[in-house]
Amino acid sequence: PGSMRALHKDYRTMTPQNFSNYESMKQDFKLEIPEYFNFAKDVLDQWTNMEKAGKRPSNPAFWWINGNGEEVRWSFEELGYLSRKFANILTEACGLQRGDRVILLLPRIPEWWLANIACLRTGTVLIPGTTQMTQKDILYRLQSSKAKCIITNEVLAPAVDAVASKCENLHSKLIVSQSPREGWENLKEMMKHASDNHTCVKTKHNEMMAIFFTSGTSGYPKMTGHTHSSFGLGLSINGRFWLDLTPLDVMWNTSDTGWAKSAWSSVFSPWIQGACVFAHYLPRFEPASILQTLSEFPITVFCSAPTAYRMLVQNDKARRYKFKSLKHCVSGGEPINPEVTEQWRNRTGLDIYEGYGQTETVLICGNFKGMKIKPGSMGKPSPAFDVKILDVNGNVLPPGKEGDIGIRVRPNRPLGLFTHYIDNPTKTASTLRGNFYITGDRGYMDEDGYFWFVSRADDIILSSGYRIGPFEVESALIEHPAVAESAVVSSPDPIRGEVVKAFIVLNPDYKSHDQEQLKKEIQEHVKRNTAPYKYPRKVEFIQELPKTISGKIKRNELRKKEWETI
Ligand code: ATP
Ligand code: MG
Repeated sequence: PGSMRALHKDYRTMTPQNFSNYESMKQDFKLEIPEYFNFAKDVLDQWTNMEKAGKRPSNPAFWWINGNGEEVRWSFEELGYLSRKFANILTEACGLQRGDRVILLLPRIPEWWLANIACLRTGTVLIPGTTQMTQKDILYRLQSSKAKCIITNEVLAPAVDAVASKCENLHSKLIVSQSPREGWENLKEMMKHASDNHTCVKTKHNEMMAIFFTSGTSGYPKMTGHTHSSFGLGLSINGRFWLDLTPLDVMWNTSDTGWAKSAWSSVFSPWIQGACVFAHYLPRFEPASILQTLSEFPITVFCSAPTAYRMLVQNDKARRYKFKSLKHCVSGGEPINPEVTEQWRNRTGLDIYEGYGQTETVLICGNFKGMKIKPGSMGKPSPAFDVKILDVNGNVLPPGKEGDIGIRVRPNRPLGLFTHYIDNPTKTASTLRGNFYITGDRGYMDEDGYFWFVSRADDIILSSGYRIGPFEVESALIEHPAVAESAVVSSPDPIRGEVVKAFIVLNPDYKSHDQEQLKKEIQEHVKRNTAPYKYPRKVEFIQELPKTISGKIKRNELRKKEWETI
């Protein structure tokens, strides 16, 4: 209760104006790390107490819809009751012990959230994965993670069964399904009879809580370890400062259950603030159903990926909807083009507050409510971290100079950072330089202390002595009416070594235009709108960009193809 009080003593007064003074916000911010910490006991169960004492508004803790009229609304008390039953199933029927690893492959259904909490209560280590995995992906994950248990549905169960004999650590399988399946424990059935009497384990703050796979934008996904405090407590930074949440809010984050982004914005950040987690089953990304949901339900805070915002503003029906409750919109995972932010503002009257972070971290930089937004900037460092721009030797660079974005980890490793890449000490060691953790991203800080993303270190294009980040070129491209989306990569050139190449997806109306003519027009447009040396000397129109499941552009795939052909 003590830590809870410290976190929430002033939620009613945490209005945006308190954040307008960035310096004082940073100074005021202190998170003490208790020796023992468990999010289920120290946060969720405390909200249950607040609820019972009438100290929390009558806002559900969890609100789920499936788009076909089905709906679930749970209070913190109900979440507690159901997740304690689930916890007993994990320890009894599945025979799991504290520290055992559990892979969770479920779409956005309520049981996914219960499984998250049940793992917290039992001290088992949760490993969420996306339901879009193939049999091969599942095998790789089961083997590399040494998981003892897998929780999934009837869609993926056959793939699990096909590989289970090759996974010696796997000894229990739990299915979320209406019908039984041979060799599997049935969750729905057992929930009917399981006891709700369960004592949450007393976890050390630095005990492993979960392992998240990175998005795999630049290679094979990495297994990233997080402790009970690194995310369970560290994500309060996101909830308070970036998402601006209070117990009166209803927060909807659209990301897939397989990524750390869901832990960020669909579990820890909203609940630590006592807000309602809103979820939509949403098996496919349909802009119209997102717009409809935002207008129909009292969602106050919305989080989505830049790809999604691009699709939403390009939807011609967007203008028809009114979002009465919506008051705060955020985006993260990739840079968002200022053009998209502007169109969103034109349609909704709301800014998009961009945040920057990684599976390895909590929010690294963000635009905070009340702070002036500079379009295209990721905002300022979150109060959790000392963020600096570094040279190759780990020296801090002055404002205006581009370098590697790093987080100070010495003498003290800050709260909110991963422990290590599981079973990959080499990779873990490669992220350290001097006193800093190196994010792998390039950027610079301006005179006002705002951070600007340039690109992933691997995506930088070196042409005729210039260093060019693809994002700036892509942002100029999307301002041309013919361009729906683009990806900019390096391409080999006999004279310049590398040149800028743009892969462009055209807006439907432009597909029938003279392509050569259009190419020239687009190139001229970029020359006019950004430094001319950045314009794409090569342009190729394609139907679709290669993307990760979470919707990020895989520039490395396009780049590899360019360089393979020489
Ligand atoms: P992998 O590490 O497997 O290649 P990934 O880096 O895409 O995949 P995530 O941890 O999901 O996996 O994403 C973090 C990365 O996303 C950051 O390092 C950065 O490159 C990018 N990113 C996140 N937010 C932003 C943002 N606001 N602006 C620019 N880039 C961002
Ligand atoms: Mg990464």
